[in-house]
Amino acid sequence: MISNPASGGGPAADAWVYSVPLRNRFRGIDVRDGVLLRGPAGWGEFSPFWDYEVAESRRWWAAAVEAATVGWPAPLRDSVPVNVTVPAVDADRAHAIVAASGCRTAKVKIAEPGQTEADDLARVEGVRDALGPSGAVRVDANAAWDVDTAVARIRALDAAVGLEYVEQPCATLPELAALRRRIDVRVAVDEGVRRSADPLAVDLREAGDVVVLKVQPLGGVRAALRVAEAHGLPCVVSSALESSVGIAAGVALAAALPELPFACGLATVALFTDDVSSTPLLPVDGRLPVVRPVPDRFDAVAADAETEQRWAARMAAVITA
Ligand SMILES: [Mg+2]
Repeated sequence: MISNPASGGGPAADAWVYSVPLRNRFRGIDVRDGVLLRGPAGWGEFSPFWDYEVAESRRWWAAAVEAATVGWPAPLRDSVPVNVTVPAVDADRAHAIVAASGCRTAKVKIAEPGQTEADDLARVEGVRDALGPSGAVRVDANAAWDVDTAVARIRALDAAVGLEYVEQPCATLPELAALRRRIDVRVAVDEGVRRSADPLAVDLREAGDVVVLKVQPLGGVRAALRVAEAHGLPCVVSSALESSVGIAAGVALAAALPELPFACGLATVALFTDDVSSTPLLPVDGRLPVVRPVPDRFDAVAADAETEQRWAARMAAVITA
């Protein structure tokens, strides 16, 4: 346990640092760590990735404070549909992950550094085989491609397995707009919203068909609901690879959206080898319940002293900057 510098010794005085290995490398990381913050409304998670600077991390802090101090808007549904998330693994492993998930929608990481077009194609074919013809396959390229490459790769993947949508195939909104004029597959905007200086003001009209909402990068459930309202596009709620405490905030957002036309990317606790809670938010029959798991496995997932100190410094920087 470390002290929470925002609390002044008040109700959110406790902050726990967790550290959990991933089953497969994801987003270039092998271990996920973050802070769990306790306040009068429950537990919040503060876990910006280590490549996020202080200014950008402030939204992540706001999300944790919202969860711990005021909680979330009332849900409109009592469970939310979720997709299984498939890391950049080989085709057999991808097939096994999807088959074991119970989900009818799969989100597949593609265009990872060190991987080829053939690797991506084999992986999505393994996923399609596991889902059968009625399942939905979406892919996430994490802004890896220029427009011409994106056109060619998306057409090939769509011809092979049929795509529900492609998430952030190119980095910039003008590129996404140019791409959209050349392909028939829907484009979902992720980094283009959450890493922009003003997610409310960014103009998505030509660039996207779907908006990806993530609670911590957008500054909380209420802030994400405002982003959804501002753009008027169908929304998908995805995780930022959090523990069950952070995932609960994503579930709360998905439960509060007026419409939820796509399965959400919130089944990512399955990518971890362990969780902060003995009742982790893992999908049953492709859905997550709208609940807030209580973290009760601190000893099992405790970070080492050096990691605790790094997080204490990070919290202090975000609060005082
Ligand atoms: Mg993404």
